[in-house]
Amino acid sequence: MRPFNTRIHHALAARTEQGLYRQRSPLSRLDNGRVARQQPYVNFSSNDYLGLAQSPALITAWQEGLSRYGAGSGASPLVTGYHAPHLELEAQLADWLGFDRALLFNSGFSANQALLFTLLEKGDVLLQDKLNHASLMEAGMLSEATMRRFAHNNPTALARLLAQASRRMDSDSDAKPNTLVVTEGVFSMDGDVAPLAELHRVAMPQALLAVDDAHGCGVLGEQGRGSCAAAGIKPDILIVTFGKAFGLQGAAILCDHAIAEYLIQFARHYIYSTAMPPAQAYALSRACRLIQQEEWRREVLRDLGGLLKDTLDPAIPLVDTTTPIKPLVLGESQRALSYADALREQGFWVSAIRPPTVPQHTARLRITLTAAHQPDDVKQLAVAINEVFYRE
Ligand SMILES: *Cc1c(COP(=O)(O)O)cnc(C)c1O
Repeated sequence: MRPFNTRIHHALAARTEQGLYRQRSPLSRLDNGRVARQQPYVNFSSNDYLGLAQSPALITAWQEGLSRYGAGSGASPLVTGYHAPHLELEAQLADWLGFDRALLFNSGFSANQALLFTLLEKGDVLLQDKLNHASLMEAGMLSEATMRRFAHNNPTALARLLAQASRRMDSDSDAKPNTLVVTEGVFSMDGDVAPLAELHRVAMPQALLAVDDAHGCGVLGEQGRGSCAAAGIKPDILIVTFGKAFGLQGAAILCDHAIAEYLIQFARHYIYSTAMPPAQAYALSRACRLIQQEEWRREVLRDLGGLLKDTLDPAIPLVDTTTPIKPLVLGESQRALSYADALREQGFWVSAIRPPTVPQHTARLRITLTAAHQPDDVKQLAVAINEVFYRE
């Protein structure tokens, strides 16, 4: 037997047995929120909430960027990979979102890891919402800080953990522990919004608050400034990602001057990774302007959300959210898979989300709306779900 063979074999067999085996489908993307695999489907599983990924303005911007700045950045930011479009995008983000500084990363995953690994040391305390993204959970577990998870969206539970953390430290020294509280603004699998004002109030005197607003930025708040703006707070650190509403990819950490400089000096994901292509930074600047200017995209999303709710049979347990993420929790994985199959037969692409991405017995359809959908697309989806529900 080759090394690792038995382990790999068993793990794959177990996944299949549990109905949790994942497969990728090579898709081609069409206009108007559609994808094709042999035949076209209306895509209700993308995070391109504002429909910018296919927008002619953004495609043109990336092409312009390529003509002006070439293909790759050629080096990491501290060597020769940091160019004028990176600097301009950082300034634009900082100004729009109300922070001293913005620092660009190649993905939200690496931004989150960079932040937690760089900030946290042994003896520090990290308090995270139980449902935070895998990138945050993994970084927390691998860091030397003591990580505790608080009940989802529960400021009282956070307050209790904060009190415990300071009591424990008081017993052996009078130094206050460095404490970091991390939550998402909008939770990706549930589409619910964190009680940011309360979390901010609870965390404030004692801890730094970091908010990962991957699904809120661009969608919520005035001019799409995100969950924190909508809740009227400014966290110490804000993480925004560009793979969702921005229609591109990459991420940024927004913070004060000192934290930005600290990350530039010490964050290994920043220092030892090739900077994003300058053409991409240039296109992101355009995306940022479109997000601010094109309020109609957010209006369409709100209208489509109302239409979905009004057309679905009231017996169907769709979670009513204020975001474009509309989960339909079905319980067991097989049930979610059979709904997804039935909808696909009718021309709708809606992915079943199963454990371990979501807790056991909460497999679901994660329906996402985008500004590229037509009202009829959403109506027909709702009718199709009604049918599957009553056929069961
Ligand atoms: C998608 C996501 C990330 C990861 O961002 P990528 O740019 O896709 O790596 C991080 N945090 C949250 C909450 C996300 O939803």
